Amino acid sequence: MLKKKVHKVAKDLGLSSAALLKLLKELDIIVKSHMSTLSEEEIKKVRQKISEDKKRVKKEFTRRYKRPKVKIIRKKIDPEAIKEKIKSTLAKLEKKEIKKHYKREIRVNVEEKPSEKIVEVVDFMTVAEFAQALKLPTSDVIKKCLDLGLMVSLNQRLDLDTLTVLSDEFGYDVKVMSIEDQIAPDVEVEEHERPPVVTIMGHVDHGKTTLLDAITKLRIVEEEYGKITQRMAAYQIEYHDKIITFLDTPGHEAFTAMRARGAQVTDIVILVVAADDGVMPQTVEAIDHARAANVPIIVCINKIDLPGANINRVKTQLAKANVVIEDFGGKSICVETSALKGVGISDLLDAVFVKAEELNLTAPFDKNAKGVVIEARLDRGKGNVSTILVQEGKLKKGDPFVCGAHFGRVREIFDEKVNKLTDAGPSTPVLVLGFSGLPQAGEVFFVVNNERQAREIAAKRQLVERTRKLKAKSKVTLLDLQEKIKAGETKELKLILKADAAGSVEALDEKLNELSMEDVGVKVVHKGVGKINVSDVLLAEVTGAICVGFHVGPDTNAFDAAEREGVEIRTYRLIYEALDDLRSAMLGMLEPIITEILIGEAEVREIFTIPKFGSIAGCYIKDGKVLRGAVARVKREGKEILVSKVTSLKRFKEDVKEVLAGYECGIGLEQGSDLQQGDTIQLYKVEEATAEDGK
Ligand code: GDP
Repeated sequence: MLKKKVHKVAKDLGLSSAALLKLLKELDIIVKSHMSTLSEEEIKKVRQKISEDKKRVKKEFTRRYKRPKVKIIRKKIDPEAIKEKIKSTLAKLEKKEIKKHYKREIRVNVEEKPSEKIVEVVDFMTVAEFAQALKLPTSDVIKKCLDLGLMVSLNQRLDLDTLTVLSDEFGYDVKVMSIEDQIAPDVEVEEHERPPVVTIMGHVDHGKTTLLDAITKLRIVEEEYGKITQRMAAYQIEYHDKIITFLDTPGHEAFTAMRARGAQVTDIVILVVAADDGVMPQTVEAIDHARAANVPIIVCINKIDLPGANINRVKTQLAKANVVIEDFGGKSICVETSALKGVGISDLLDAVFVKAEELNLTAPFDKNAKGVVIEARLDRGKGNVSTILVQEGKLKKGDPFVCGAHFGRVREIFDEKVNKLTDAGPSTPVLVLGFSGLPQAGEVFFVVNNERQAREIAAKRQLVERTRKLKAKSKVTLLDLQEKIKAGETKELKLILKADAAGSVEALDEKLNELSMEDVGVKVVHKGVGKINVSDVLLAEVTGAICVGFHVGPDTNAFDAAEREGVEIRTYRLIYEALDDLRSAMLGMLEPIITEILIGEAEVREIFTIPKFGSIAGCYIKDGKVLRGAVARVKREGKEILVSKVTSLKRFKEDVKEVLAGYECGIGLEQGSDLQQGDTIQLYKVEEATAEDGK
């Protein structure tokens, strides 16, 4: 067996010999000095201990210092507060009649505020870049990382949590910057009024498409109508000399998918509800999506021409869904239309202008353009074509740009009628040619100063994206939320609730609300009947909720989306089980469900005692296989006498990871000194299961 001297091992581990000797003592491994030797097994134990310690320390630190991923700047000193402070100090001093010292006292008081030390960080910046930002030698940063139990190299990328902890250690607050912020710091430019951006949402067949058609017809003079060869995902209409931009994003998924990438594109949602059908599941879904995005809703009760139309019923249903219209004393404007007959369309557009005015929508015009990708496709003739909604500045032909991990130069700009444009301002949707690849809907598009810069940023983003993908997993789970509640980072357990019947949804919702405690509440972001779908998963992702299915599971697409976005789906068959789990999470007592899966059985045929190491059981694998690290349950005459872990596994003299049935091998257990010939060892793999697997 390979043996190594203590000092050599210490060097390999980046520790001093003294530190390693101390560690060995903690592990009860007896050595005389740094010249003593360590077996492979012992080295393994040391490594394991270091890694456990590291994890523990990191967890402790991140928990202690974890902060929300937002710009973190110390509160600006409030001049009013200072005045107050000065006043009160003066008052105090006046009482004591030591007027001479007024000035100095005042100065001291102001200076007592901690000085603002802020470091600008970018998610996944390297250790070297971080050190540069702090104006410190990299060795200082690496050392601090080691102190925190993190082994890092110069070019290792650090996530925001780690950067925050480290900055705190160095006495800095962090200001989180995007890559583009760093390169093109925002300049203050005067803002001007811009057209509103409107999305039409609602239940299927309630008339969204017909409504958009009616609006489009109103806009386009008849001869031009035929000119539109293909529908663009966004377009503008001009009405009474004012412009409205419509986003035609089919299904609500697109709406939330964009939000999931951080893009807020819509200013106003028009919620279409058919007067003869009323509020339906997708209507509720639309309401929840709009609410999650904090976008105001204009209600459009459509199909009023139908004999079965019952406008009042719709209004009441909406009120129940918490959309209270103006007639009922609420805030939402309500318009009645017949999209098919072209009735009420101008009222609807007027309502949009009223709301837009209320919102006071403005944007800077005189700067490099910034926008969002609405859709992108590969055109056989034109190459990569993207529909961009310009949000700020003016987009010009020839502008170099970055979009997600892609870059390019604006080769051509078209409007929705495929007219060539030379530039486009805020709220204008345009087709842009010149992309290096196909961007995704929702990705931010922005113009930079030159092509070299565009290329650089895109390359950096690709790197960051790769690192993020490697790191991204399991963003929203119940256990995760429990940790956040424990750490005081959240006071809400957010849920998306789906069940097989409306009755169950209501029952569960009611019971869940009863669960809310003084300091932790349950918030049902969306509830509905039917399987958990992609839209639910996306909504969960953007709101930081988990999906709970009662008697229903996810559909295939939702399952994939949940995997991809790291959203947990929990399914239950009994109300009390669901309530138990959620209550436990709120109390911070939820335990992961650990399951042991039987993977094999071995028979002990001989015991070998190895000096300094302990005993090894010479076994024959009767069934399945044995893995290093597996849980071993040892049985003697049918009774379980020991539960331990397989810490060493050998075939002849070789260390191996697994041995299959029909072979002999040497098994060493963590606590295995009293094994006997004839014992049976059952081997189990341990898995942390979700609630779904457990049932
Ligand atoms: P979407 O699925 O929400 O886009 O709904 P569509 O626009 O495709 O409309 C569904 C059906 O309802 C179509 O057959 C339309 O002709 C019809 N429809 C839409 N609006 C009205 C309306 O105001 N009155 C009547 N009677 N039918 C309408």
